[in-house]
Amino acid sequence: RPRVLSGIQPTADSFHLGNYLGAVRQWVAMQETHDAFYCVVDLHAITVQPDPAELRRRTRIAAAQLFACGLDPERCTVFVQSHVREHSELAWVLICLTGMGEAGRMTQFKDKSAKYGEGAASVGLFTYPILQAADILLYHADEVPVGADQKQHLELTRDLAQRFNHRYGDTFTLPKPAIPKEVEKITDLQDPTSKMSKSSSSPQGILDLLEQPGPLRKKVMRAVTDTGSEVVADEENKPGVTNLLRIQSALTGTPIPELEARYAGQGYGTFKKDVAEAVIETFTPIRERTEKLLADEHELDRLLAIGAERAGAVARATMEKVRDRVGFLPRV
Ligand code: ATP
Ligand code: MG
Repeated sequence: RPRVLSGIQPTADSFHLGNYLGAVRQWVAMQETHDAFYCVVDLHAITVQPDPAELRRRTRIAAAQLFACGLDPERCTVFVQSHVREHSELAWVLICLTGMGEAGRMTQFKDKSAKYGEGAASVGLFTYPILQAADILLYHADEVPVGADQKQHLELTRDLAQRFNHRYGDTFTLPKPAIPKEVEKITDLQDPTSKMSKSSSSPQGILDLLEQPGPLRKKVMRAVTDTGSEVVADEENKPGVTNLLRIQSALTGTPIPELEARYAGQGYGTFKKDVAEAVIETFTPIRERTEKLLADEHELDRLLAIGAERAGAVARATMEKVRDRVGFLPRV
């Protein structure tokens, strides 16, 4: 079985629809066909300095949502990144192989650091893609199911793997991104040219997996649509309607042309109502399962310990090899 690895940050009280369609839904499918490792990447989350109690709470919420979405500890490995110390250790080795200019070209850093003053974003936010490379390479992942925003980071991961292999001998697998068609970039409901994001979307622009039906319905009904009244996909001129069509199509399995035909001549109202219902139908059982899982912290922590054990065994073996190849003196 090919190996997959992917991660999600505990940077909010809930995942959103983009995380679900762009990433987690693929993760659930891939646990059947792949040897799958999925982690809640809390080391990544501290690049923006969260409050410690909030980080701990959000890490549990993130893990609970992953299980609630259908990840099964018997079929895949779900763990918390900081439970496996080798992530940080390999990141340092890779940081030393990365050029400053190369790291400086990452567009996510440019976007995420923009809200800080000049030079005020953390060095961790700058080196984030290199830690991500470590996450992936530690497990020799063949594929990495992610949204389109992670494409550039995957390229860096491949470059670093290649560089390491060239300098120190064949060690790492070159991973390929597995980016889902149509839902690779779900956009913000209020700003349909920007990606829906946990940390930068406004509350009105984001559909949270753990949100109640009332607010979800309201947000879809108030989503920015475009001039005209035709429900047709047109990325250039109708990014808002196109985003909603993609969502509706992904959630119901109905091809977009079929949806366009169904809503012909009906205006946006009926269409939006149906989109809202599809979202609610998908989210409600996940929210209910998440609430149940969060009610038993011991059980949740036990499941995560099992994941950490399995992931740790793979990561330790990789790091042992890396230490030797790099030339670190073995500790006897
Ligand atoms: P943050 O704003 O804190 O970075 P995020 O919403 O970008 O949060 P991440 O935890 O960084 O979420 O990403 C988890 C996964 O979800 C990644 O694979 C990412 O590519 C995917 N993803 C995030 N946003 C979207 C989106 N709008 N559409 C499709 N996939 C997305
Ligand atoms: Mg992100």
